[in-house]
Amino acid sequence: MKKTTAKQHDVVILGAGPAGLSAALHLSKKGIRPLVIEKNPIGKTKKTWLLFKHIIDEYGLKDSVRRAIPKIKFSSYLGSEYSIKNDFLFPVYEEMALEKLCSDARQAGAVIHENEIFCNFSEESDFMTINTSTGSYRTKLAIDAMGNNSMIRDVMNHKNTVLNMGCLAYFLDGTGSADEDEILLYDSFFPGKDYFWVVPLEDGKLMVGLFFFNSIHNGNIREKSEKLRLYIQAKNIKGHVYERRLGNIPLGPQKYLDFSRFILFGDSGNTPLPSSGFSFSQCMDEGKTLCEFADLYLKGESKIDDYKNSILGKKLPGIEVHLLISDMLANFTDEMLNTAIASMNKLDKDFIVSFLSGRDQSINFSIQALKSILSTFSIPELISLTLKQNHFKNIANAYNLLPAIRKAKIGKQFNALVKSMMKKK
Ligand SMILES: Cc1cc2nc3c(=O)[nH]c(=O)nc-3n(C[C@H](O)[C@H](O)[C@H](O)COP(=O)(O)OP(=O)(O)OC[C@H]3O[C@@H](n4cnc5c(N)ncnc54)[C@H](O)[C@@H]3O)c2cc1C
Repeated sequence: MKKTTAKQHDVVILGAGPAGLSAALHLSKKGIRPLVIEKNPIGKTKKTWLLFKHIIDEYGLKDSVRRAIPKIKFSSYLGSEYSIKNDFLFPVYEEMALEKLCSDARQAGAVIHENEIFCNFSEESDFMTINTSTGSYRTKLAIDAMGNNSMIRDVMNHKNTVLNMGCLAYFLDGTGSADEDEILLYDSFFPGKDYFWVVPLEDGKLMVGLFFFNSIHNGNIREKSEKLRLYIQAKNIKGHVYERRLGNIPLGPQKYLDFSRFILFGDSGNTPLPSSGFSFSQCMDEGKTLCEFADLYLKGESKIDDYKNSILGKKLPGIEVHLLISDMLANFTDEMLNTAIASMNKLDKDFIVSFLSGRDQSINFSIQALKSILSTFSIPELISLTLKQNHFKNIANAYNLLPAIRKAKIGKQFNALVKSMMKKK
């Protein structure tokens, strides 16, 4: 197709998944009209099934909810179980949710191009030129929301080689299970580090899947599919598989936010996620911070580096605890997981919901989380976990955010944490 001269836009967003649409919606509501480039029709990159109630309410996504499921259960084949009343997590039709966000963003002024592919970019002193399959755009600010496989991250050499959560799921129909009233969220069913989930959907449909703290790739799909098949058989789940979904959720450290001209946002930014990997919700929340920054940046009152500080300043060090716990979970033995599930019964429901959603990333919350881990496991057990990530280094990388930590007045909580560690000795 013939290319035209570059058009000018204040902000160009690459990708219209949850991150790109969150950015588009928040920016356009603020009066900044972004251009969004998406290679597929909106909603076709299907990955997300479970959404938190606060996001459904805030963004008017009620029509996307498939059904309410009154109970959530965690369980281990070694015997522990933990059940919680579910009024906070809902399976949704992702396509509908994304279409609604897209139409709201358009209504607020965002320009969204579907079926247009980002190809490359060039930089001048004050502008970037974004080249796509059908045009060129000059912009002051570019946002990479192209997900976990973003080529921008590759160009910047920010590949996530540290920690991925691999997921594989089947959708089944004809299961006759629409009346089931329980989501199995974390079912450790066989020895090993594959965890399963089962979500009963509407009209006899059901989603069943497995996740593990490693990447899913060509070399292990067959093995993981076989594991899932055995699980389905063992659980006596009948029905016909009509769709398969798979992918990786990045759980990498914040150094991947080390961008230059591009803001890496959502999975492409590898923004550390809560240990559960519920990241649609995270994208929606973080879009607000991005929008506050973009507004100041376009007025010349902020630099790109300030975004990194504002996003990390809001999360530190809660962010580190989520990463640390993801890393620990990846290394738990079956016995440790069994103990962890049993100990959930001692915790407050609000704490668990907050931890699952990753919503509270404050220092107070993170210390509470660390304390409950320390009181559950012995020091030798904790030492036995060979952690993949260098958490001390990650915290040290964030050293320029120390003033934000000081403001959080952590003295009391920190003392309590040290005391609980001393007791262990
Ligand atoms: C199997 C699986 C299950 C998951 N389940 C859940 C869940 O239940 N709940 C939850 O909250 N999260 C879940 N997640 C995580 C969640 O889906 C992601 O974290 C979230 O989608 C990240 O949003 P994003 O916009 O950053 O990236 P993506 O959703 O990956 O969107 C990136 C977008 O960029 C577009 N794009 C890519 N390259 C180009 C290009 N060159 N030009 C133009 N456009 C491009 C893509 O088409 C896509 O639309 C799951 C993830 C996986 C892999």
